[in-house]
Amino acid sequence: MSTLPASSPPTLPPDWGQRSRLSVWHPCTQMQHHQEVAPLAIAKGQGVWLYDAQGRAYMDCISSWWTNLFGHANPRINAAIQEQMGRIEHVMLAGLTHPPVVELSEQLSALTQHHLGHAFYASDGASAVEIAMKMSHHFWRQTGQPQKNEFICLSSSYHGETLGALSLTDVPLFRASYESLIKGVHTVMSPDARQAQGEETPDDVAKRAAQALSDLLMRRAQHISALIVEPRVQCAGHMAMHSPLYLQLARDLCDQHGVHLIADEIAVGCGRTGTFFACESAQIWPDFLTLSKGISAGYLPLSIVLCTDTVYGAFLSDQLAQGFLHSHSYSGNPLACSAALAALAIFESDHIVAHNLTLARTLEEAFRWTQSDDRLVHHRQTGLILAFDLHPQCARDHPEFTSRMHFHALEQGLLIRPIGETVYVMPPYVITQGEIELMSKGIERALNLSLKH
Ligand SMILES: *Cc1c(COP(=O)(O)O)cnc(C)c1O
Repeated sequence: MSTLPASSPPTLPPDWGQRSRLSVWHPCTQMQHHQEVAPLAIAKGQGVWLYDAQGRAYMDCISSWWTNLFGHANPRINAAIQEQMGRIEHVMLAGLTHPPVVELSEQLSALTQHHLGHAFYASDGASAVEIAMKMSHHFWRQTGQPQKNEFICLSSSYHGETLGALSLTDVPLFRASYESLIKGVHTVMSPDARQAQGEETPDDVAKRAAQALSDLLMRRAQHISALIVEPRVQCAGHMAMHSPLYLQLARDLCDQHGVHLIADEIAVGCGRTGTFFACESAQIWPDFLTLSKGISAGYLPLSIVLCTDTVYGAFLSDQLAQGFLHSHSYSGNPLACSAALAALAIFESDHIVAHNLTLARTLEEAFRWTQSDDRLVHHRQTGLILAFDLHPQCARDHPEFTSRMHFHALEQGLLIRPIGETVYVMPPYVITQGEIELMSKGIERALNLSLKH
């Protein structure tokens, strides 16, 4: 069993957190909170470890918001970006191209067995979702069905927070203030397996959710452009997990009713759930697949929309306006693409998909205690995402649980960010068995401290 790595000497003056709260408006944060507690200033990272300004180490148990795959300061990714920097740092992608963007597009096409052979580039996940929405609707316009301009998302879905993506995000906390700015969408039952009643299996819940989707499509399909789904795990939606059967049923229903399927793999793609793409676990391909977060291994902003020949072909025309004109200044940035290529090279040379299956078993073993702890419910795991919820009674007795758990985990040298009553870990793929055991022990101690009063 390993221990915390030796502290490294301070490299920053200790007041960065104070200065930050005055000048930086932090995301997903009530800034009032930082009047009392300054944000934690990170001076450096190495592997799964982050070091604060005082040199204290924290294990990055959530891969820095699910982006980091191969650890901080990974030598192979660092070298790839440095090498690319010496060639060309950035060039516009309209009318020009460059080796990293071509190679990355070819490799992603190959990883989908060329089902999704066309890659469109942006920088953040929300933009990728908006691009998929625009492409889907534009496709229907080009093919004589311009009335198809509505979208379906699942309850508890999260697809980003720009206005278009936010319309597909069913998280009241993020949505409520902007409701009057966004267009209505159809929200259907999530296949979240925690909703099982009586003897129901996850497959039964999936069938029930598919029936709800079917009912809506029966009524409304002529107006529906696409259904968007986070395959296998609705991450921001409290790590809700579902059976791959749902993806098969949803694929069939979309085909029957002439509706696109968008698989948002921004969080679950890139080996996170046990296959390279989460859709592979259901042996289906969507019409659009969005990637971001892990695709550049947590190094640089990059997002990609992959689509089929059918979609791509519908935009070919001698009319400029029938092309897909969405423009973005940093589209296909060579440095970001080189980070992604370095990540894909590691997947291949280090057999990461197989390695992650072994790691997932280690994670399961280390957190076995959560299954028999009667303060906890809904222990669940898909690949390298492991989550459990606080028992509802326990949650009522401890209204401050979320922030206390975050705080006590930091005391134990662990960075986690519980979502309400849901505690989860989603570590980088370079985590060792010893580090997993350390993480499990630290989370158990933090849980005990958080539930003490
Ligand atoms: C994070 C996330 C997004 C948004 O990505 P950003 O880069 O934060 O805009 C969209 N969809 C899913 C499933 C995500 O997890």
